[in-house]
Amino acid sequence: MKRGVGAMDGATQRYVFAFHEGDKDHRDLLGGKGANLAEMTNLGLPVPPGFTISTDACRRFLADGQEPPELHAQISGHLARLEAERGKRLGAAVDPLLVSVRSGAKFSMPGMMETILDIGLGDESVDGLAAASGSERFAWDSYRRLIQMFGSTVLGIDAARFNDALEAAEREHGATGDLDLDADALRGVVADYKAIVRDATGRDFPQDPREQLDMAVRAVFASWNTERARIYRRQERIPHDLGTAVTVMAMVYGNLGPHSGTGVAFTRDPATGAPGVYGDYLSEAQGEDVVAGIRTPVPLQELERLQPAAFTELMRIMALLEGHYRDLCDVEFTIERGKLWMLQTRVGKRTAAAAFRMAVQFLDDGLIDVKEALGRVTGEQLAQLMFPQFDPAFEAKPIATGVPASPGAAVGVAVFDSESAARSDLKSILVRRETSPDDLPGIIAAEGVLTSRGGKTSHAAVVARGMGKTCVVGADALEIDLEHRHFTTADGVIVREGDTISIDGTTGRVYSGMIDVVPSPVVEFFEGRLSDDERQRDPVVQAVSRLMIAADEHRRLGVHANADTPADAKRARRFGADGIGLCRTEHMFLGERRRRVEELILAESEAEQDKVLAELLPMQLGDFVGVLAAMDGLPVTIRLIDPPLHEFLPDLTELSVKVALAEARGEVDEGDARLLKAVRRLHEQNPMLGLRGVRLGLVVPGLVAMQVRAIAEAAAARIRAGGDPRPEIMVPLIGGAEEFELMREEIRRVLDDVANTSGLSIRAAIGTMIELPRAALTAGRIAGHAEFFSFGTNDLTQTTWGFSRDDVEGSFFPAYLEQGIFTVSPFESLDEEGVGRLVSIAVEEGRAARRDLVIGVCGEHGGDPSSVRFFDRVGLDYVSCSPFRVPVARLEAGRAAVLQKSDETDTR
Ligand code: ADP
Ligand code: MG
Ligand code: MG
Repeated sequence: MKRGVGAMDGATQRYVFAFHEGDKDHRDLLGGKGANLAEMTNLGLPVPPGFTISTDACRRFLADGQEPPELHAQISGHLARLEAERGKRLGAAVDPLLVSVRSGAKFSMPGMMETILDIGLGDESVDGLAAASGSERFAWDSYRRLIQMFGSTVLGIDAARFNDALEAAEREHGATGDLDLDADALRGVVADYKAIVRDATGRDFPQDPREQLDMAVRAVFASWNTERARIYRRQERIPHDLGTAVTVMAMVYGNLGPHSGTGVAFTRDPATGAPGVYGDYLSEAQGEDVVAGIRTPVPLQELERLQPAAFTELMRIMALLEGHYRDLCDVEFTIERGKLWMLQTRVGKRTAAAAFRMAVQFLDDGLIDVKEALGRVTGEQLAQLMFPQFDPAFEAKPIATGVPASPGAAVGVAVFDSESAARSDLKSILVRRETSPDDLPGIIAAEGVLTSRGGKTSHAAVVARGMGKTCVVGADALEIDLEHRHFTTADGVIVREGDTISIDGTTGRVYSGMIDVVPSPVVEFFEGRLSDDERQRDPVVQAVSRLMIAADEHRRLGVHANADTPADAKRARRFGADGIGLCRTEHMFLGERRRRVEELILAESEAEQDKVLAELLPMQLGDFVGVLAAMDGLPVTIRLIDPPLHEFLPDLTELSVKVALAEARGEVDEGDARLLKAVRRLHEQNPMLGLRGVRLGLVVPGLVAMQVRAIAEAAAARIRAGGDPRPEIMVPLIGGAEEFELMREEIRRVLDDVANTSGLSIRAAIGTMIELPRAALTAGRIAGHAEFFSFGTNDLTQTTWGFSRDDVEGSFFPAYLEQGIFTVSPFESLDEEGVGRLVSIAVEEGRAARRDLVIGVCGEHGGDPSSVRFFDRVGLDYVSCSPFRVPVARLEAGRAAVLQKSDETDTR
């Protein structure tokens, strides 16, 4: 705590802090709500007085099953001060003090835990409140609210019973809403409510105000562990052991006649980032009425007319808060007979678009500098802005909303099983209650996946994210009837198999029918397809453009792209790549050319082999010329052939069946029989760990020489054409220095040969991938020969963990995530603790052996925001990722540079 007030006071632990004792930096201890109420109090804003019980107390309560013994007395002390300040006693018969008891964790968990208002009211004090306020109706309205909230949240009585009783009273009095019930009617409601409490709990509604308070505090503690709170935390990756703080504060009354009310407001539009006044206000209402939808609130602008003085004050305070927090704030406020009270503020959540726009607005307003502006946006948010979107001009009402699990916009016909999705000629959306590994083919075939159960770590969510497929999970309002192949929405709309639906994986919304999908303007911008004018007109594009420039100015890491074709290379360049970090060559053996690889494998003499290789050479050469031309002047790291050769041959089972059938008919095809023999010979149980990578180059003569010759001749051709080719040759799957040394000699020999015959100086750095633990552990020796390293983090993850991605991602990862073994798939975000350690060792020992060793990463992790920050930290020279992720990596590399520096200067 500030001013030296510690959580330990002498020998006893302190659990309770008055608002003026805290500040916004103590969210750990006071929860977000308590910390920000303290901050507002210290800013001199009109906050009703109160105190906060720390998360320490909650953790003790959850661990021991009871409050720490010191707590009771500490609450008494603070309550006495609060009573003195207000000049009222809690629940007194004359002019009683009432309080609210509010939950508030370090991270906002909106609506997940409990809050109870009007604590302190009872059969006697209700008259005291009526007399003091001059409104009997208000007093009885407050009392019925207390019993209703206390009954459902603290006593665990079904809330519907109270709602039914209220509606019955409204019917009886011919009222159209709660506002039409007068004091007498409300007195009747209170009697009904008390009967419900007696019936449900076997005892009377507690009349002792202190007992109410203690029970409410306990209920808030316990609400940390409700099912919905746990599910929410799992989804948002909030640790389960933080606990909630409890804030107790004097009530102010929004239900005290027409000059009272309650509202919520944002300092800017959290959806778009546009400046202005956004919010809702509801007259004669308390607490959650605004968001609960019992009556329709008015837009905040109306408040200017309804309560001009309070409105002006609110505007002043919001501007002050925004300047103070230097960020978007949202607030909850109440007006009691014309006087404004601030009940909550926090830095508000926002959409990706709003994050970018606001970062630039605050930058322009001089509230933050460019480094902080970069800190306000994330690579994830940029990635979201790059997905195709539903046409914003299309104003459709969603039929359901679920958890946004994997972004994008997908349209297709609803299908209810995996087979139908795989069979369907139309684009489809796979609709399931939940998915299992059996649904994999359907997920692959479908445009998107929609489930009614599960959260962000469910099977569907994990698999869809891994594939970059749009996915909405946990749309629990949908009744899915697999037998009759339809689902029903909460409003009773029935969607049958074959009906078109649209799902938005960025918002979680589900629509019936087809909604137009438009390309993302941000991608159009990166592609260079927007005119100056269009760019000026789109504030999101403008903000992205400015922050990308800032990121490029600050980043230390280079950003290369993984690109195999001239078209991909060109796009990567448009998206700002500094070169190609991984150009795979295997696709260059597919299609038409597959037959030649077959011939190569079947060749019985060296002469035959040479003939096939000679045919392959010009084709490869053409490929390389194209890529080198597209990346002229920038490095192009070409990886020699990597996959096992049998990948180019027919499937063993299929071919066996074909030959067996032919044999049975007595018409054996000589070629097929020979091919089958070869396929059998090359068949591997674990191809991932078999004859591939450098092993292939060392065992199959001529293959690597042909590839290197193609690269060297392509470079020569580019030089003759006046270009500036910068090829680099990368050897895959090295396990030790000997393998690399042999390979390098072969490569050198061919390069020299082409240089001699062409008379041109052809320079190509020769380096290796580090993708086996052994390579990482012997990096020092390997670096003695290699000019560069590139981490293949996909294989390195597989071999470090000992599982193959294809085999395990769909089968047990969801269970692992669910059980918290992973918080995120190690193929999505680098496992820093294990794989990252190998990376660090290899960097350190590699550089010790060769000071100018260039080190990069070419696994997909190169485009993952948190992994990019790790690679920056351990000192890599560049990351390489798919062309589409290049802007994300550029932004994150810029953020990594500035965030790290500010961390260093932060001396806390
Ligand atoms: P949540 O975390 O779900 O938003 P809160 O603790 O913020 O729950 O309480 C919900 C609402 O109750 C607040 O928005 C506010 O309007 C009302 N409220 C809380 N405390 C008081 C109080 N002391 N006086 C008047 N209204 C209050
Ligand atoms: Mg609130
Ligand atoms: Mg690999």
